[in-house]
Amino acid sequence: MTYFTPNGFYSGGQWRRASRKFSDLNPADGSIWAEIDDADLSDAKSAIASAQAAFPAWAALPFTDRVDYMLKFAAEIERRRDDLIKAVQGEGGGWFGKGIHEANALQEICKAAAGAAYGNIGEILPSASGKMSFAMRRPMGVISVISPWNVPALLSARQFAFPLVAGNTIVLKPSEETPYCGGLFFAEICDAIGLPAGVFNVVTCSRDNVMAVGDELIENPAVKGICFTGSTAVGRTIAAKAGAHLKKCCIELGGKDALIVCDDADLDRAAQLANFGSFMHQGQICMSVEKLLVHEKIYEPFMKKFIARAAKLKVGDPLKSNDNVIGPLINDKQVNIVREQLEDAVAKGARIELGGKINGRYVEPTILTGITPDMLVYQNETFGPVAPVIPFRTDAEAIAIANDTPYGLSSGVCTTNEQRGLSIAEGLQTGMSHINCSPVNDEPNAPFGGAKSSGVGRYGGRWGMENFTETRWITVERGGKKIPPAF
Ligand code: NAD
Repeated sequence: MTYFTPNGFYSGGQWRRASRKFSDLNPADGSIWAEIDDADLSDAKSAIASAQAAFPAWAALPFTDRVDYMLKFAAEIERRRDDLIKAVQGEGGGWFGKGIHEANALQEICKAAAGAAYGNIGEILPSASGKMSFAMRRPMGVISVISPWNVPALLSARQFAFPLVAGNTIVLKPSEETPYCGGLFFAEICDAIGLPAGVFNVVTCSRDNVMAVGDELIENPAVKGICFTGSTAVGRTIAAKAGAHLKKCCIELGGKDALIVCDDADLDRAAQLANFGSFMHQGQICMSVEKLLVHEKIYEPFMKKFIARAAKLKVGDPLKSNDNVIGPLINDKQVNIVREQLEDAVAKGARIELGGKINGRYVEPTILTGITPDMLVYQNETFGPVAPVIPFRTDAEAIAIANDTPYGLSSGVCTTNEQRGLSIAEGLQTGMSHINCSPVNDEPNAPFGGAKSSGVGRYGGRWGMENFTETRWITVERGGKKIPPAF
């Protein structure tokens, strides 16, 4: 028995069937959560063609009409809130509280996108020849959106809401691990509110078809921009292909984020931030704390508080109890990565201060000490509930350890001295830094994005609008521009 029977994938305002299906598993027990249509290259082509056909009329609507659709979209999501929360638990293995967070965040994203549509779409420029000279932005056309499984609803919406309200049309390809939360749920919303056919399309596919579908979502001439959130390995290939076709892309990738706890920090707050940042959603957040740097002067009292908090987190199937804060990892591949990193760390001398056990896809919240730079857990993204703790003596040392990674997504600094916090944040090579908060932060009006191997471009607010609109220079000549008489 499956929990959920989808209507198909969504293209040109219609539910359509692919020639075959793939299984969407509940990671808590491996049962089939849904059988999903496995769209192929020709399905992707026709979804892009529908989006292209819908573009002129959508772009020509008064922007206030697009805002109205966005607000209806938000209202329908709110009406379907409980369905989404259940799906975040059952399809994604997320804790009940994580489902609530995603549902709330969707509302904020829709409101922020609707608000951003009222912002400036250009600037008046001075002109040496007295022309009326201005820069103005207009929508580009079809935008492809490729999203990951870890926070699937939020991360899909964050990518499509701003380009959509700006007048672009969308083809969304959710992760094969969460095709409902990351895609088909939104197709149901669009269907329910009567969004014009072709404006929003969702193509679901398995890993078998992702290469062909993914390439089409980049290379098809109708596609003008690509939004991607996912791993650095896949993101690099997407950015390279987009570059080869001279297409704009916004690429948000992995992280190895540090939380720095200074000797003047509020230790209760710092321990809570470390616990939340390391273990929320089993550490499967791109901004999860993956290096916990603790000043040696407060190391012992901090560790006592941190371990005591982490020890209280309950592990189990999120659908069975809302108290099961730590659900399963999404798949066996992720579990194997965590297992390999734990075994490697222990073999090289790390100590397990808490947790360390793996039972199927469930990994206990694990705290490691005795970390050295040669360990995989120091170098690579873990994406699991593992907190490697490293003591430091000076702020400069903490900054150096935090920066010792190819990644540069987010970071956090705990200190009661704001000036000290700001100066540490200034030294960190990350796209985002949060003083007295964990690296895990996301607000839809703020510029979200990474440095180094964590990505290119920014989502959110006016940055989200600028990504997927084309800036044009328009002038009106008023007699001041002289042409050489020889002509
Ligand atoms: P992934 O890169 O494996 O997959 C992401 C998406 O890309 C999925 O939809 C997948 O189907 C698709 N994809 C895979 N191969 C493709 C191809 N050849 N062409 C086109 N699309 C392809 O990542 P994941 O496992 O889904 O997500 C986890 C990763 O995402 C982690 O590294 C995490 O740090 C990162 N992440 C980053 C952010 C951020 O904002 N920086 C947010 C969430 C997750």
